[in-house]
Amino acid sequence: MAFSLPPLPYAHDALEPAIDKETMTFHHDKHHQAYVDKLNEAVAADAALADHSIEDLLKDVSKLPKAVRNNGGGHWNHSLFWKLMAPAGKTGEPSAELAAAIDRDLGGMDAFKAAFNAAGAGQFGSGWAWLIVQDGKLKVTSTPNQDNPLMDVADEKGEVVLAADVWEHAYYLKYQNRRPDYLKAFWSVVNWHKANDLFAAATR
Ligand code: MN
Repeated sequence: MAFSLPPLPYAHDALEPAIDKETMTFHHDKHHQAYVDKLNEAVAADAALADHSIEDLLKDVSKLPKAVRNNGGGHWNHSLFWKLMAPAGKTGEPSAELAAAIDRDLGGMDAFKAAFNAAGAGQFGSGWAWLIVQDGKLKVTSTPNQDNPLMDVADEKGEVVLAADVWEHAYYLKYQNRRPDYLKAFWSVVNWHKANDLFAAATR
């Protein structure tokens, strides 16, 4: 069964001013669609890859064609990323459980945000910043390209609670080279409802 582009869970302009409509339109409709199309091409070319979930492909990705790592990662990462953002008034706030874990493992919300932004700003070239649960504890990490913490090739593996795309295509039209400004604005659209759910599932 072929993979497909999930619809955005809000209008293309719903995250303005943090994420402008033009960036969101290219990012979701063109970039994410391209990852889906190329993933489907790669899976169609090898019968052994048929009928696997995206998560199954990613966890053994070191044994698979590079196109699956790049485009399967791209598809999974973006599918989650859209859900991890929400329009004003619908972002919620960290649950008591998540806030307590941030205090315990990361030194509090301000220190967490600073570490996450530093991970994103410090990722050379294209990649992602992550908040993960690893061995029951929260950790901030980053990955290059479309790698993610589910992959067997990841230096830091874990279950994802929050993610930020730091590819230039995620911010360049509005922020140009100012990746830190984009990351600062990202916090205004974080969907804490989704992050809380992912944290609860990862620590259940
Ligand atoms: Mn992207």
